[in-house]
Amino acid sequence: MKEYNIESRNRFDVVKITHLVEEAVKESKIANGLVLVFTPHATAAIAINEYEPRISDDYISWIKRVIPPGAGWKHDEIDDNAHAHIASLVIGQSKVLPLSGGRLVRGTWQEVLLLEFDGPRRRTLVIQVYGL
Ligand code: ZN
Repeated sequence: MKEYNIESRNRFDVVKITHLVEEAVKESKIANGLVLVFTPHATAAIAINEYEPRISDDYISWIKRVIPPGAGWKHDEIDDNAHAHIASLVIGQSKVLPLSGGRLVRGTWQEVLLLEFDGPRRRTLVIQVYGL
């Protein structure tokens, strides 16, 4: 298992982490199997999709539209981040990618992304490679 620390820059952020996943794969010496990408946080998520500034803004706009911060959520009475918990719940805190011939199997426009909903914070990224 490999761990990385990631600093998110804003309350909402999209951080590309593909290079870290590929580094962990390389260090594992495993060529074929599965790669689990996980973040042990309740207000962030892991996604796989295109990374480009405008679409990253669109992801955040969509999340704010569907799960508006400060929309009367009960948990906001405690720490003002209910929207972040719900976004993390919906998008999910892990993803699994296939590993074949020493390479992550992914499409041209598929990057591994950490989505921040309650930053800026230091986030932990956990990568576990399984296989032979
Ligand atoms: Zn909370």
